[in-house]
Amino acid sequence: YADRFGGQLVLVTGAASGIGRATAFAFAEAGARVVCVDRDAEGAARTADMARLVGAAEAWGECVDVSDEQAMEKLAAKVAAEYGIVDVLVNNAGIGLSGPFMETTSEDWKKVLDVNLWGVIHGCRIFGKQMAERGQGGHIVNTASAAAYLPSRTLPAYSTSKAAVLMLSECLRAELASQSIGVSAICPGIVNTNITATSRFAGVDEAEEKRRQARSSRLYGLRNFPPEKVADAIVLAVVRNQAVVPVTPESKGALWMSR
Ligand code: NAD
Repeated sequence: YADRFGGQLVLVTGAASGIGRATAFAFAEAGARVVCVDRDAEGAARTADMARLVGAAEAWGECVDVSDEQAMEKLAAKVAAEYGIVDVLVNNAGIGLSGPFMETTSEDWKKVLDVNLWGVIHGCRIFGKQMAERGQGGHIVNTASAAAYLPSRTLPAYSTSKAAVLMLSECLRAELASQSIGVSAICPGIVNTNITATSRFAGVDEAEEKRRQARSSRLYGLRNFPPEKVADAIVLAVVRNQAVVPVTPESKGALWMSR
């Protein structure tokens, strides 16, 4: 996609690591100007530096917590004033939470929903409004997960947050279609990133849970699914204006069974 996104402004959240960082690079390689947003300031700045090296016309790092509505409003105002209106928004920041429902506290639920759901709601509303007001279309990609349609005993809060993101994306897609703003939900299965290292564990033995996750990903032979392949699927979702995109074999199988 050399220069396919030349002149376009792409904003990626969760850009300091994993899928977000790979996505920033993928759009950079396609010639975009890239805003790399993360609550990890140093990581976001590093992604921006590397994005310039791989071909971004321009790249910036911004330190923002996506669950903080006021901070997201401030970010949108700054980006609009200094870099322009965002053409492609990738709401990708997310956190993990493992543990059975009965062990998951209200505090745990709040933490995961604040980032995984409210972060996406803020991004869609604030940047989507700017896109709609400009009147030249655009695209929003939300990183959901295969967990959105694959029930599990160990990820009730995480899966619920992702199911909500999937439905939100489909509703918004219907709402914004007449304004030429596409909305896509990306649903990866298990991808090799830092998310399990930074996941919270509710009422379960952390070491045992990590061993269980490693066993199950080995079972599927998916331990080494690279974030770059998810990034490619995200770019393709924008180019093709795809609605729901399963990535990784178990995600495709689970989507097929659930619909
Ligand atoms: P990761 O931990 O490598 O990256 C997540 C990034 O999000 C980190 O840089 C982190 O600092 C940032 N972040 C977390 N909370 C934030 C907040 N409140 N504000 C701003 N930034 C924040 O994990 P990843 O696997 O690359 O995750 C990216 C997305 O992909 C997440 O939404 C995750 O749920 C989803 N996902 C991951 C997998 C997987 O197996 N890795 C599978 C399906 C979906």
